[in-house]
Amino acid sequence: MTQFNVLIVGAGPAGSFAAELLARGGAKVALFDGRPEGEPKPCGGGVTAKALKAWPQLLNAVGRTITELDLYSPSSKRLHLQLEEPFAIYSRIAFDGYLRDRARDAGAHVISQKISARKIKRTDSGWRLKSDSSAEWSGAFLIGADGANSGIAKMLAGPLPPSDMEVAFGYRAPLPANNAAPTVVAFLPGWVGYAWAFPRPDHMSFGIATTQDAFAHEPLDDLLWRFMIGYYQQCEGEKVKFWQVNSDGTRIHEHLRATSERYAARIPGLAATTWDSRKVCGDAWALLGDAAGFADPVTGEGIYYALRSAELFGKAYLTGAPSSYEQRWREDFGADLLRAAQMRRRFYGNFWGAPFTERMIEFARGHRGVKRVLGDLVAGEQGYVDLKKKLLKSALRPV
Ligand SMILES: Cc1cc2nc3c(=O)[nH]c(=O)nc-3n(C[C@H](O)[C@H](O)[C@H](O)COP(=O)(O)OP(=O)(O)OC[C@H]3O[C@@H](n4cnc5c(N)ncnc54)[C@H](O)[C@@H]3O)c2cc1C
Repeated sequence: MTQFNVLIVGAGPAGSFAAELLARGGAKVALFDGRPEGEPKPCGGGVTAKALKAWPQLLNAVGRTITELDLYSPSSKRLHLQLEEPFAIYSRIAFDGYLRDRARDAGAHVISQKISARKIKRTDSGWRLKSDSSAEWSGAFLIGADGANSGIAKMLAGPLPPSDMEVAFGYRAPLPANNAAPTVVAFLPGWVGYAWAFPRPDHMSFGIATTQDAFAHEPLDDLLWRFMIGYYQQCEGEKVKFWQVNSDGTRIHEHLRATSERYAARIPGLAATTWDSRKVCGDAWALLGDAAGFADPVTGEGIYYALRSAELFGKAYLTGAPSSYEQRWREDFGADLLRAAQMRRRFYGNFWGAPFTERMIEFARGHRGVKRVLGDLVAGEQGYVDLKKKLLKSALRPV
């Protein structure tokens, strides 16, 4: 049995980036993933400008760079954002494959095996993992980077309540015929959350992200179909409002039914009280990315936090103080995620008799300063801690 310094379960962005950094730092790393070849992780694949600036190597993965975004209010009012700094949209097969290759090139052993938490044993010398095919590996340190349903997190940090989870589902569908594929985020009418239309190099990613508490399959699926049909109709030059298919959408509906592929998965969306009490590392173990609960509770964005948590853990481990990871993530992005958790209810609640998201878009349409703050929020450059102050300050400035 080969002995490793670090065993990492899960080769998504968090696990692969941690494997690369630890292997470059001289650790002997095993990186496990059980996803069947060619099966993508369900995801919009949007990576913010903040992440691209922090890790410019990500631009080498095959994706599409986006410089414009249309935000829609629940009543379908449009706010066009010309982004000062582009963000990128990736197919997760391309993105995850790129990061995994970098981990391998850095010297990590990439092993295509599912590791069930039930088969992980703690011994006097560290951890022993067994695959379903009874192969075994041992290592001194264990990292759970196995995503939102992490069995390792349940085993080591305890289960999260269902209300700390969000749900996202959607369809992978063909690009519109004329290739005029705008990037769209539309806040849902009467529901918490939003729908997205993200053009990737070879297909569209459509989806809805909402809270698990609010999730109701049939009406939300119906809403998403209306959004998708409206999107293709707009691409064909028709003047339609999202959510209302006001001309005959049968042709598009039938075409999409025959060509699109459905996906669904959970995203962590931790409540403020959970952020206060959650521990993501302990004696010779740590959790990264979704397994740790690190996603934005307002937007569901998790790729930035997956990569940043890997980087912070890498620094903690390579300086000989892996347990300093807990303090590092709290100082780095903990306050912002906590603030987002506190804001979620208000963000998707009402303000002056209408949804807050409606008011926000109405206001930004007439005010350059507020529009800029929203652009920065999309770019990942505007955090939640001082968001209210920034919005108020720019709203009080002359238009
Ligand atoms: C529908 C949807 C849309 C989203 N859109 C966006 C977006 O546009 N932008 C954004 O920033 N975030 C988005 N997110 C969130 C984002 O996908 C996650 O936050 C991010 O992937 C977290 O990375 P990770 O490495 O922690 O986990 P994951 O990417 O989930 O990777 C975990 C890996 O562990 C492997 N694994 C799991 N269990 C085992 C096991 N037992 N043994 C071995 N391997 C295992 C899996 O195969 C997987 O490869 C979205 C999420 C969903 C569900």
